[in-house]
Amino acid sequence: MQTLFRQIPSIDKLINAPQGKALIEQFGHSAVVEQARTLIDNARVQIQQTQSLPDFLSDENALFSQIEQQLTSQQSVAIKSVFNLTGTVLHTNLGRGLWSENAIQAATQAMRNNVALEFDIDAGKRSHRDNYISDLIQQLTGAEAACVVNNNAAAVLLMLATFAQGKEVIVSRGELVEIGGAFRIPDIMQQAGCKLVEVGTTNRTHLKDYRNAINENTAFLMKVHTSNYQIQGFTASVSEEELVELGKEFNLPVISDLGSGSLTDMHALGLPAEPMVQQKVKAGVDLVSFSGDKLLGGPQAGIIVGKKEAIAQLQAHPLKRVLRCDKVILSALEATLRHYLFPDRLIEELPTLRLLTQSLETLQTKAERLKGALYNRLDSRYILQIEASEAQIGSGALPTEKLASIAVTISAEKQSDLLILEQQFKALPQPIIARFAQQKMWLDLRSVAEFEALIEMLKIS
Ligand SMILES: *Cc1c(COP(=O)(O)O)cnc(C)c1O
Repeated sequence: MQTLFRQIPSIDKLINAPQGKALIEQFGHSAVVEQARTLIDNARVQIQQTQSLPDFLSDENALFSQIEQQLTSQQSVAIKSVFNLTGTVLHTNLGRGLWSENAIQAATQAMRNNVALEFDIDAGKRSHRDNYISDLIQQLTGAEAACVVNNNAAAVLLMLATFAQGKEVIVSRGELVEIGGAFRIPDIMQQAGCKLVEVGTTNRTHLKDYRNAINENTAFLMKVHTSNYQIQGFTASVSEEELVELGKEFNLPVISDLGSGSLTDMHALGLPAEPMVQQKVKAGVDLVSFSGDKLLGGPQAGIIVGKKEAIAQLQAHPLKRVLRCDKVILSALEATLRHYLFPDRLIEELPTLRLLTQSLETLQTKAERLKGALYNRLDSRYILQIEASEAQIGSGALPTEKLASIAVTISAEKQSDLLILEQQFKALPQPIIARFAQQKMWLDLRSVAEFEALIEMLKIS
C-alpha cells in the first residue's frame, strides 16, 4: 500500500506542471489547488479502501483532465434550460412564463448599464422607482397609481400590513384559498398581524354576511379571486360592486387579490375568461393586486393598483423597502406593459399568450414533426402516437378549464422502458420534461416555446 501512496503526486508538482499552469491561467490558483487537493484526498481514501490506484492517477493527462472537468462543471449554471412539454404553460416549477423579446432587451440593457431608476432626467432630480410602471398602469387601467413588489404574495402581505395591522379583515369563507407553494390567505393575515373574520359558508356568502361582521375594528373588506378551484352547484358570492357599495356605507376600503388577473380580454382570445384589472378598478375597488408572471406574461412581480392616497401609504410602509423590485425586473415589467398599448400585436409579442392561443392545426403540424424526429431516435420497444390532449394555463389559473391540445404519446410494453426513456430525455443537453398519464409519456405541444430548437436537438444529440 505504501508504494501506492507514494504514487500520489504532490500539489506542488501538479501546479508547476505545464498542464497545471494552463489550468491556473484559466481558473485561478485557489480553485485549481482546491480541486487538486480534493482529488488527492479521494485518491488516498480509495487506496485505503481498495488497495488499488484510482484510474485518474494512471497517467498525468487523465489526472489533469479530471481536474478540468470538475472546474468546468463548477462554472456551469445548474439551473438548466429545459423544454416544457408538460402541457402546463405557466408551470411554476419550470419558472412560469417566458419574457417577450422587448422585455429581454430592456432587462439586459438594465444589467449592462446604469439606468435612470429613481432619477427624473428632465427635472434633474430624484424620483421614485415605481413611477414608470405607475404612469403606464394609469394609462392602461384607469387606476390612479401603482406599487410594485417582489410577487403577488408580497403584494397581499403589504396591503394587509399597511392597512389592517391589529385590525380585522372580512373575507368570504369560500375564498380562503391556498395557492401552490403554501401561500394561504389565513397565514398571510397572521404574518401581517391582522385578524381574519370569515363570513358565509363554503358554497354561499351573501352581502348581509359581510354587513353583520362589520364593527369598529374592521380595517377593510377583502375579495380573493379563487383562481385555482371552482365551487359548482348551489353557490352564491358577492361581487366587488356590491362590496364597494357596502364599503361606502361604512367608510371601509375594499381590496381585491386577483391572483393572475389580466389586462386583456382572455375570452376574446378564445381562452377561459379571467377577471380584468380594469373592471375591478372601474367597480371602485380601492386596491387591486395581481401577478406579473401569470397571464400578464412578464417577470415575477406583484402589482398593486388603486387610489393615489392608498398607494402612497403602501409606498411609505417599511415593508415596501424589503419587498421592492430591482432595476432589471422593473425594466422588463415596463417593457411587458408597453405591449398592452398595442393590443392587436399582443399574441405575437407575448410568448405566454402566443402559446395559449396556438390553433390545433398548428399543434398538429408540430406533433407530426416531433413524432418524426422521435421515430428516428427510438427503437421498436416504443410506440409513438399523436393524440388529443388537455393542456392548462397553470400557476393556479383556472385548472378546471382545460385547453384543447395535441400530444405525441409514447408507450411501451414494459413500463421500465418508459422510465429508461425518461432518464434519457433528462440527460439531453436541454432536458425534455414530459407528463405521465395512463401509463404513457405525454409530450404536449402547447407548452413548448422553442420548438425549432427542440427538433434540432433531437436531430443532432
Ligand atoms: C397566484 C396567486 C397568488 C400568489 O401570487 P405570486 O405572484 O405567485 O406570489 C396570490 N393570490 C392568488 C389569488 C393567486 O392566484
